[in-house]
Amino acid sequence: MFWTDKIADDIKEKYATQIARGDALIVRDEKTASGRVHIGSMRGVVIHNAVAEVLKEKGVNTKFLYEINDFDPMDGIPTYLNQEEYRKYLGVPLKYIPAPDGISENFAEQYANEFKAVIENAGFDAEFYRASELYETGKMNEVIEKALNNAEKIRAIYKEVSGSEKPEGWLPIHMICEKCGNVLTTKTVGWDGSEVQYVCEEKEGVGGAVGCGHEGSRSPFDGGAELPWKVEWPAKWAVVGVDVEGAGKDHSTKGGARDVANNIAKKVFDYNPPYDIPYEFFLVGGAKMSSSKGKGSSSADVASLLPTHIFRLALLGTRPMRAINFDLDGATIPALFDRYDTIAEKYWNGEEDDDARLFELIHKRSVPERYYRMRFSQVAFISQMPHMDIMKEAEGEKSDALTQQEKDDLNERVEYARAWLEKYAPERYVFELQRGDSTTEFSALQKDAFARIAKYIQEHSALVGEELHHFVHSIQKEGEIDAKELFSGIYQLFLGRDSGPQVGWFLSVLPREYLLERLQGVSN
Ligand SMILES: [Zn+2]
Repeated sequence: MFWTDKIADDIKEKYATQIARGDALIVRDEKTASGRVHIGSMRGVVIHNAVAEVLKEKGVNTKFLYEINDFDPMDGIPTYLNQEEYRKYLGVPLKYIPAPDGISENFAEQYANEFKAVIENAGFDAEFYRASELYETGKMNEVIEKALNNAEKIRAIYKEVSGSEKPEGWLPIHMICEKCGNVLTTKTVGWDGSEVQYVCEEKEGVGGAVGCGHEGSRSPFDGGAELPWKVEWPAKWAVVGVDVEGAGKDHSTKGGARDVANNIAKKVFDYNPPYDIPYEFFLVGGAKMSSSKGKGSSSADVASLLPTHIFRLALLGTRPMRAINFDLDGATIPALFDRYDTIAEKYWNGEEDDDARLFELIHKRSVPERYYRMRFSQVAFISQMPHMDIMKEAEGEKSDALTQQEKDDLNERVEYARAWLEKYAPERYVFELQRGDSTTEFSALQKDAFARIAKYIQEHSALVGEELHHFVHSIQKEGEIDAKELFSGIYQLFLGRDSGPQVGWFLSVLPREYLLERLQGVSN
């Protein structure tokens, strides 16, 4: 069974009573808009969205809410921003920091909009809301009061579950300094049931934030304070009424944030923790890169390398507890296109396995009819051969004229292949036809093979890839030359390297005069 179906069935069982009543199931995820959003954050969006979609498909009233956390303070300056300019905002809630582009409403909105565009362009949807809305409209007041009145209990849970010790008198609240707006520098002193007393410490604190020295007392309600995140997490579940919420597996270890949050939910907020979907990382280039590193691995950067259906395949095609390793410099992109072609065939052949189901989900159930596609690696190769007309090659391969959809798909593949070749493709995919004298010393056996291929070409007015392929193999089977020596000789002669595309097809698409000139130039 496909992973989304299995999880959805599990959820249906857990919430059978609620579903029977017709109450909506709330699926939630969130992201702090502290800079360009790393592609890894798409994993959470996709898992939650896919599960919500499948629940809806199964007739369950479901809502997927995505929180843009704009109330968290800036706890580090992204490397791509002017460090001096932003230092003064360290510790200030993201919503109150000006947007770097000078246009967006605030810092959080700029990056949230970039991420939202990626989510929407990839065909995933969610109802977005802001953390600041929860705080500033007073929706968080009740849980804040509960947390403050249960400070001792929370302190005990921290210690018992995660082993983390908080000092005596510690309060589970981060006050926003009325004077300088900082939330990371305030040390709480007391809670009198309506206001929290605090000192905005002047020494350098968390994330390099420095306070103003103000000593004050203010209400923690209506946006005057933020809860520490292990308390805030379950508090939001209770306020929003969350039923399903997964998280990265780093939070899901025993004694980890999830464990603490679950305990606080039950013991302080009297709320049943949501159904959990732990998931693995989405790695780019083999290493988990943080949002602050920015360039190259942001969701917008990675999404721009793939057409929507392939991006959806990359995200939906791996079950949650398997890491996705997106190696931009390697063969990830051609492999994804190949996988798409494979699962498409399975679906069109009427198979009913996980791959066919995946194909259906990629297309949100408006699945295309069978159409011709040229393999991505072939597209990448042809697009580097100035003498070749890719449309003609495609018609030749299909043995028929292309439909409009096939032309569009091919043009799209050309566009993405070019971008990939330009920015990331490994050497083995980059080809340049050799001109002039070859620098390679060819063996007598190789020269003999070249002469035989030249003769074959002269005897055949039209070269058919498959036939030529058989002919080249027959040289190796009949003669003394071994396969490696034969093929590396051919690739060296034409590409100046030891490997290349399938040899018969490759030779058949090169101009005849060019083939003869090189083959005879060496063998004579
Ligand atoms: Zn201050």
